Amino acid sequence: MLGIGKTGWIEKERPNCGPMDAICRPIAVAPCTSDIHTVWEGAIGERSDMILGHEAVGEVVEVGNLVKDFKPGDRVIIPAITPDWNSVAAQGGFAMHSGVMLGGWKFSNFKDGVFGEFFHVNDADGNLALLPDGLDPAAACMLSDMVPTGLHGSELAKVEYGDTVCVIGIGPVGLMGVAGAVLKGASHVYAVGSRPDCVKIAKEYGATDIINYKNGDIAQQILDQTNGIGVDKVIIAGGGCEILETAIKMLKPGGCIGNVNYFGDGEYLNIPRAEWGVGMGHKTIAGGLMPGGRLRMEKLASLLVTGRIDTSKLLTHRFKGFDKIEEALMLMKDKPKDLIKPVVTIDW
Ligand code: NDP
Ligand code: ZN
Repeated sequence: MLGIGKTGWIEKERPNCGPMDAICRPIAVAPCTSDIHTVWEGAIGERSDMILGHEAVGEVVEVGNLVKDFKPGDRVIIPAITPDWNSVAAQGGFAMHSGVMLGGWKFSNFKDGVFGEFFHVNDADGNLALLPDGLDPAAACMLSDMVPTGLHGSELAKVEYGDTVCVIGIGPVGLMGVAGAVLKGASHVYAVGSRPDCVKIAKEYGATDIINYKNGDIAQQILDQTNGIGVDKVIIAGGGCEILETAIKMLKPGGCIGNVNYFGDGEYLNIPRAEWGVGMGHKTIAGGLMPGGRLRMEKLASLLVTGRIDTSKLLTHRFKGFDKIEEALMLMKDKPKDLIKPVVTIDW
């Protein structure tokens, strides 16, 4: 990122490795909708000459002298969120907010990201996870952000056995929201999207009903299909600022909304007074940055190893070679109809 609205290639020094850190080089990387928000919407403010990217599987090339469990040559999954595990926020159970709110999001935010020949990982023992044998690095690259974020939607929404769930947005994050809701025991899963390829994959991940937001108000469509009752849980992974209002309207009293969507405009989000039970509807709104860290990566990787989640379905566009990263990023920006997620694999 050269500046807001501008990308290009730059030369930078190889980053230094602190005593608890690692330097890695990428073997699979993926651009994210967040990279697009960062560059073309200025979502995190002005940045210049910052290396983008926060989704990677890589090879360790150097470790600090206090790192115990990793060594050069290890193939690792790197989470998008790399908290400081000895922080007070981590002790409080919210490591993703270490230092400052959203402070665990360091790559391509507070420091250079993973679209470089070498990149720095803080707290290597706390944040890296070994890539399990036999796992395709491209498919495993979805463990950096898409799997943990989508699944966090179902955690925030507190999905339980038999719940009816609406997943708003079925890009790669929402599709993992569908997969997460199904794993947590949802019964009916209403998936909201319009693109045919996403709809097809949503059904493969277990969506029982598809709602097209282009066919009218989503809340009304859900209420029509549920005899006016609504759903137990809503996962938000797409749509603009008005979508929170929509989610509240389709939620049963006592229900819960899990938001992982980025809300980019305006000062406030609206809560519809009547549908929120005039303040007494027991409708919970939870929104969160995905938890990062090693344990989370190891556990989620085991879902791929055991075939509980097949992330290869997300990978609609595969590229080979470091110099293809730009093409993959531009694809993410332009979002052609058949795109779910591009991935770039690199042989060194
Ligand atoms: P995509 O753009 O690929 O997907 C967005 C989805 O939302 C699509 O299915 C799209 O439908 C749907 N959509 C668009 N407009 C509306 C609308 N008005 N009403 C309902 N649905 C709509 O995004 P990603 O899956 O890559 O990312 C989703 C969100 O998650 C982004 O905001 C991203 O910034 C955020 N994110 C959050 C993270 C976290 O840690 N909390 C981490 C990573 C991402 P269709 O295209 O089919 O028409
Ligand atoms: Zn991402």
